[in-house]
Amino acid sequence: MKILIMGLGYVGATTGLVFADLGWNVIGYDPNEERLSALARGSLPFYEPGLSDKLKEHGETGRIRFTSDLQKAISECETIFICVGTPAKEDGSADLQYIEQAAVSIGRYMQDDKLVVIKSTVPVGTNEKVAAWIAGAQPSNISFDVVSNPEFLREGRALYDAFHPERIVIGSHQPEAARKVQRLYKGISCPMVLCSPRTAELIKYASNAYLAVKISYINELARLCDRIGVDVRDVAAGMGLDSRIGRRFLHAGIGFGGSCFPKDIQALIHEAHRHGTKLTIVEQAHEVNRTQVRYAIDLWEPAIGGFENKTVAVLGLSFKKDTDDLRESPSLAIIDELLRRHAYVQAHDPLARLPEIYPRTRVKQFETMEGALYDADAVIIAADWDQYAGADWAKLKAKMHRPIIFDGKNMLSGRRLRELGYEYWGIGTNAES
Ligand code: NAD
Repeated sequence: MKILIMGLGYVGATTGLVFADLGWNVIGYDPNEERLSALARGSLPFYEPGLSDKLKEHGETGRIRFTSDLQKAISECETIFICVGTPAKEDGSADLQYIEQAAVSIGRYMQDDKLVVIKSTVPVGTNEKVAAWIAGAQPSNISFDVVSNPEFLREGRALYDAFHPERIVIGSHQPEAARKVQRLYKGISCPMVLCSPRTAELIKYASNAYLAVKISYINELARLCDRIGVDVRDVAAGMGLDSRIGRRFLHAGIGFGGSCFPKDIQALIHEAHRHGTKLTIVEQAHEVNRTQVRYAIDLWEPAIGGFENKTVAVLGLSFKKDTDDLRESPSLAIIDELLRRHAYVQAHDPLARLPEIYPRTRVKQFETMEGALYDADAVIIAADWDQYAGADWAKLKAKMHRPIIFDGKNMLSGRRLRELGYEYWGIGTNAES
């Protein structure tokens, strides 16, 4: 059986390579010619650990190939995975235009039965819409199934997560279609959640929203900790020992970003409103996150005596370590906030490039951490790259104009840095200890 992957971003490229690894023949299609030709040349158009090697490997085994001939690819493949983007619209709802385009192409070009699998994150009811779009575009009445199979991988760990998922969710009213999708994952051992398409669609949003709530909860608690002289990390550690709570996602900082959490919680909030109800907890989690960067900058500003005309090194541009994805990155929100306060920014990231939207006289990117720190009045840790945690801060101190560290990820040891002569500020970690 041949599998067509429509949409070759983080999810589609990973999914295609995992299926190739599981022994299936995979064809990848993406309308983005640059992305498609890079993949066809064996070059990954974004950074994701381990994925380049898999691309090379299956370029050689021939189990994955890439094409711009969508019509031929659709007619050749029995199973089609939709992995296109579902960005947020202005009103927060999910933009389904790419899903619709993919569905219409499938309907237009299919000549025999197809199994269509939606992997993109989509609002409840999209499975039915996709079925209607396919049916509406068909020149004749050919049967097909649409199964909802949301993806849970994390950028930076996409390949590992795709090979070791904690569950695979398969939403379908057709047991045979669900079984076919289940068979594609042969060799991957994890619980299979078989449910209705609507349930599958909601499981994805509900999971992301829950994690977002957990992060915003600890971030809001960090604000209280800053007022009462308690270290939020100690509180999180004590809380996390309770197995009903767990330690993960209780790490206070500058808030969450990335291509999923912010857009997915907005889409869920929008969906609840559309159905005449409210998810107040999710709305508040969104609000805490929206204001967290400003909270951090306000908290730190007195220590530097105002940011105006100060030079601030910003370490980390991507929304987290091990990815070059800048979508909704809190680091960019920090740069915006610093510019609003008339600071100069010297940025560094091991992989990501600064978008060309900033005035060059105010924001510069440096190839090395040392370059970014040179003559800076303060440094802000904005992403949790290991390189920053493992840096020789004793040596770096001499590069800076003033040794002030604002740790937006609460990842460095304040005590050790203070011993080295730095002024150190985290978020919710400013108790004297
Ligand atoms: P992405 O933006 O990296 O890639 C999407 C790709 O779809 C792009 O290359 C685009 O050119 C392509 N595309 C657009 N229209 C198309 C069409 N008609 N036919 C074929 N391809 C088309 O997106 P992503 O990060 O891979 O996410 C894809 C989906 O998976 C989204 O719904 C996202 O919410 C969800 N998801 C993402 C992650 C993640 O960590 N990135 C994790 C789980 C789920």
